[in-house]
Amino acid sequence: MRLSGILSSFAIIVLLSSSVSAQGPKGVELADIDTSVAPCTDFFEYANGAWRKANPIPPSMVRWSRRWAAGELSKDRLHEILEQAAAKRDLPAGSPERLIGDFYAAGMDEARINALGAEPIKPWLADIDKMKSPADVQAMIRRFHDVGIGVPFTLYGTSDNHEPNNVIAHIFAAGLGLPDRDYYVKPEARFAEAREKYLAHVATLFGLTGVNAADAKTAAETVMRFETALATHSLDNVALRDPKATDHKTSFADLRKMTPAFDWAAYFSAANIGRADVNVAEPAFLAEVNRQLEKTPVAEWKTYLKWHLLRVAADALSEPFQRADFEFNQKYLGGAKEMKPRWKRSVEMTDNMLGEALGKIYTDKYFPPAAKARMQEMVKNLLWAMGDDIQSIDWMGPETKKRAMEKLSTFNPKIGYPDTWKDYSSIKIDRASYWNNIVGGARFAVADNRSEIGKPVDRGRWGMTPPTSNAYYNPSLNEIVFPAGILQAPAFDMAVTDAVNYGAIGVVIGHEISHGFDDQGAQYDAQGRLKNWWTDEDLKRFQERTACVAAQFEGYFIEPGIHHNGKLVLGESIGDLAGAKIALLAYQHSREGKGPEPTIDGFTPEQQFFIAWGQFRGDAIRPETQRLMVQSDPHPTGKYRVIGPLSNMPEFWKAFGCPDTAAMVREKEKRCSVW
Ligand SMILES: [Zn+2]
Repeated sequence: MRLSGILSSFAIIVLLSSSVSAQGPKGVELADIDTSVAPCTDFFEYANGAWRKANPIPPSMVRWSRRWAAGELSKDRLHEILEQAAAKRDLPAGSPERLIGDFYAAGMDEARINALGAEPIKPWLADIDKMKSPADVQAMIRRFHDVGIGVPFTLYGTSDNHEPNNVIAHIFAAGLGLPDRDYYVKPEARFAEAREKYLAHVATLFGLTGVNAADAKTAAETVMRFETALATHSLDNVALRDPKATDHKTSFADLRKMTPAFDWAAYFSAANIGRADVNVAEPAFLAEVNRQLEKTPVAEWKTYLKWHLLRVAADALSEPFQRADFEFNQKYLGGAKEMKPRWKRSVEMTDNMLGEALGKIYTDKYFPPAAKARMQEMVKNLLWAMGDDIQSIDWMGPETKKRAMEKLSTFNPKIGYPDTWKDYSSIKIDRASYWNNIVGGARFAVADNRSEIGKPVDRGRWGMTPPTSNAYYNPSLNEIVFPAGILQAPAFDMAVTDAVNYGAIGVVIGHEISHGFDDQGAQYDAQGRLKNWWTDEDLKRFQERTACVAAQFEGYFIEPGIHHNGKLVLGESIGDLAGAKIALLAYQHSREGKGPEPTIDGFTPEQQFFIAWGQFRGDAIRPETQRLMVQSDPHPTGKYRVIGPLSNMPEFWKAFGCPDTAAMVREKEKRCSVW
């Protein structure tokens, strides 16, 4: 059922097509609409309720819609590329195709992986056991960091908040095995239950390495105690969204004073990083790390470090480890019913580790130049619309408007794939050890990132791989990035009307642009510096407007007693509200001189625009994943990303003739408008 179920839902997906049919462009997906629900009552149900009824979430997935199905279709395509690469045995060593083929093949060698059990990580476990002194603990922390296992903190090179053209080291809190700090410290039943399940999960994995039940239970308790201490001194998800709360530029000398128990000189020289200023995101957390270094016995550090090695390695070890990892992380926390098939997990890991080698072949095959050209045109129109919107809003004074326009003029869009591709040829990959290949890939990624520290920022780098079905905004570089993976139906389709494309990918583009002007992005200036550019009065008005959006989402319940955290989802919700507004504006602008597009299937272009947003963004979701999102994810659920912004928009009410009393029309005094 698993594989064939997924394939049968792919069959009804309209694939990226390079030409418009003789009948002219297509409109919205008619069969997806639930006509038993009025658009003004519940637009989420209306836009694609029928699709959701006909397409239950596949057992291995936690969310499902045409958009998620398209993401899985990309994995099918990557699968084919990787099977072909793996089948060739005469490729030159170090060539991109050889690397991805060998990496994938090692991941597919289930018999070998199962026969090895915990063998691949035994040398690590043995070395952890040999630790005797606090200095040994620190050497092991360095070794973990070399392969990207961030315990109990991570160090990562990225733009300086104040000199964004320079890359400096940032030290972040990390080292927790549960999704975030609230899971350790909050009394609610769902967190208490997660702690119990986590204790059992930790004990299970220790047990699988041969530790007896009593010792495995003790180990789990040690891990919980240690991580709870870290969690207690970590910021929560809302605090972490405030860029100022994590902005603490610190000299190397002060860093040493802050954590005298940690040998930063040894760390920096081993990592080949110059002793320059760093940003300490959470000083209170680092102080706690210092306390743990001073007081926690080496024996407990051993347990903690072994645990994090185990949790990172589990999916690359034999079946019982994979099963345990699935049971806790995907099934219990996420609600998945079945493990993803082996090939899909290998595809995802190859994309994760060698994403640009794989992505180059993927984009050559599936991302036509015509798609890039059409996207560039849309981005241009969206940037124009944001500018028009900034000029016309009545709550912002001319001085701030001037700065906002300055910021808009420095936006850098990236579309499809990077101009220069990463060279992975230095990674040692063979078909005999999946785990060693993963370690090699991670070691490369860490070294690659460290090599940037102390240098001017390289604006050609990408933070997502080309096949990724997603997009992002980076405030320090003021760039909006759209990987090829999202540029396919239902987000973007060469065969549909502009109205439909603007309603889907157009709103996504508008959303990413608006991130530059949301509650976080608005704190960065045109040069990407964390620096105020607002007059006091305008800032006050902006904050009143954003508070309206926070209050709106605070009122959206996913189940009795659990509602969205308005402050957590604020940036994304501002992005959707502004994104929908400027995408519609950009669409109308794009038709100037061409005349309006036709009504198709009885839907006006404006109706097509809004239905396209509902059909792209709305999805079915497992209750467990919904709870996880409301707790930890700055994005609202798909349902409220459809209902939330549209219920504030007069353009939507007009398009569907909604009366003032309709559920999709917010009460006058509660209506929000930011940009
Ligand atoms: Zn976003």
